[in-house]
Amino acid sequence: FVTCFNVQKSYGDREILRGIDLEVKRGEVVVIMGPSGSGKSTLLRLVNHLEVLDHGEIKVEGRYVGYEKRGAVLRPTRDLAKARARARIAMVFQHFNLFQHLTVIENVMEAPVHVHREPADRMREIALGLLAAVGLSQHVDKLPHRLSGGQQQRVAIARALATSPRLMLFDEPTSALDPELVGEVLSVMRRLADAGMTMIVVTHEVAFARDVADRVIFMDEGRIVEQGPPNIVLRTPKEERTQRFLRMVE
Ligand code: ATP
Ligand code: MG
Repeated sequence: FVTCFNVQKSYGDREILRGIDLEVKRGEVVVIMGPSGSGKSTLLRLVNHLEVLDHGEIKVEGRYVGYEKRGAVLRPTRDLAKARARARIAMVFQHFNLFQHLTVIENVMEAPVHVHREPADRMREIALGLLAAVGLSQHVDKLPHRLSGGQQQRVAIARALATSPRLMLFDEPTSALDPELVGEVLSVMRRLADAGMTMIVVTHEVAFARDVADRVIFMDEGRIVEQGPPNIVLRTPKEERTQRFLRMVE
């Protein structure tokens, strides 16, 4: 479903990703962990057409990400925003990134109606359903600043789902939340995983990884240093760097 092959990315002369190979199957939940600066967000941004890689390739559902085939030649995609809209990948960020001047339901309807040209009345029904599913039926007409962080993040998830994504990327979705609000967001994510969504989740929530992930990947300095089923990588990591990191977050 997602294939990354020898993915390399530098900013200036700083190598951020040094050859990532990664395959994610349909319906798989992959959790990525690793220290700050190891390149986790950069990898998600590449998969989501927010940037173009330097070497290697990324394909989502068989299509190149960031590149287009012209004849036999691959060229960087000119309009990444359009490519992103077509690709049906949704991303949820650490800081929610809601439109502060729009109500909750307007946030959820924004992309489908204005980018994908879905009819507003049909989309409103769908948005109400999604907001009910994340437990926010009472808040649909509020502005984001009147909600708690956990509620705002659930709006962000409903907004992501409104574009009918086939792949969801989460970049530390709970790390800006007060501890007592983390659980409500993780439980929404857990239900998505149970429903069969393909997910790549950057998180340091070890319990979530243990219960929900099919595979845990540990990154350091732009490389995958260890990966495998959560009960192995989290309980008996082979690499010193993984052990040290897990001692820190648990
Ligand atoms: P964190 O856990 O702190 O979120 P991360 O693993 O997500 O870290 P990245 O955000 O991928 O790490 O960043 C890796 C490195 O790339 C960092 O040192 C960062 O400063 C650098 N970097 C990221 N984006 C850019 C950019 N647009 N321009 C220059 N440097 C960047
Ligand atoms: Mg990051």
